[in-house]
Amino acid sequence: MVYFMDLFFAAAAFILGTVIGSYLNVCIYRIPLGISTAEGRSHCTDCGNTIAWYDLVPILSYILLRGKCRACKAKISPRYMTVELLTGVCFLLAFIVFGLSLRTPLTFVVLACLITAGFIDAEHKLLPDRFAVIIFAMGIINVFVSGEGYLSHIIGLFAVSVPFFLIALLTGGMGGGDVKLMAAAGLFLGWKNAVLAVIIGSVVGAAVAVVLLAKKKAGRKSEIPFGPFLALGCGAAALFGSRIIEWYLNLF
Ligand SMILES: [Zn+2]
Repeated sequence: MVYFMDLFFAAAAFILGTVIGSYLNVCIYRIPLGISTAEGRSHCTDCGNTIAWYDLVPILSYILLRGKCRACKAKISPRYMTVELLTGVCFLLAFIVFGLSLRTPLTFVVLACLITAGFIDAEHKLLPDRFAVIIFAMGIINVFVSGEGYLSHIIGLFAVSVPFFLIALLTGGMGGGDVKLMAAAGLFLGWKNAVLAVIIGSVVGAAVAVVLLAKKKAGRKSEIPFGPFLALGCGAAALFGSRIIEWYLNLF
């Protein structure tokens, strides 16, 4: 019976993630354009046709429509299904890691913010402040929930953001959005996981940069935003940070 309930909740977490992911797609599209995310029905960006509810089912609609608008057959960006699937998988992982605890919904909110901010930054080189604000709020609650002690979280607020701020000030090679995101994420994660998040983000970011350079898709001077990689690092640290750190310390 316990086993069945676990499966039920795991499936519910995944489905909730895909539905939230569908809303995150609206945010990713509308926030950079300054359009309200609460008003107005979703419509095709090509023909302007309002999309019927049965064509808005996460993941399934995209597959059934073969990635095309029902009215004008214009190609729908694969980003829509990617974000729905990614959010679903992230929510499922959060439930597997944290179970039925307050940490799970907190992690849902943080992951949703990281996914949205990461995709917006990848496309527009822009990290809107609102995501840092929401993650900061979740961080304040997490100080009382994580069981790590408040000191780890308060150090986390500064551990990455202060060095980032200095780099931004001295070289300009770092955006203010990155600083704010890492202050908020650092408070949420605690300092060890915040440092881990930057390490993961830097390694993956460097690997992607090398591949893009090799494929000549990016010149030596083209700017690759750091935000998506920081978001990836923070998400990985939020889910698996404690395990990764424990595994690493056990190597010695
Ligand atoms: Zn259309």
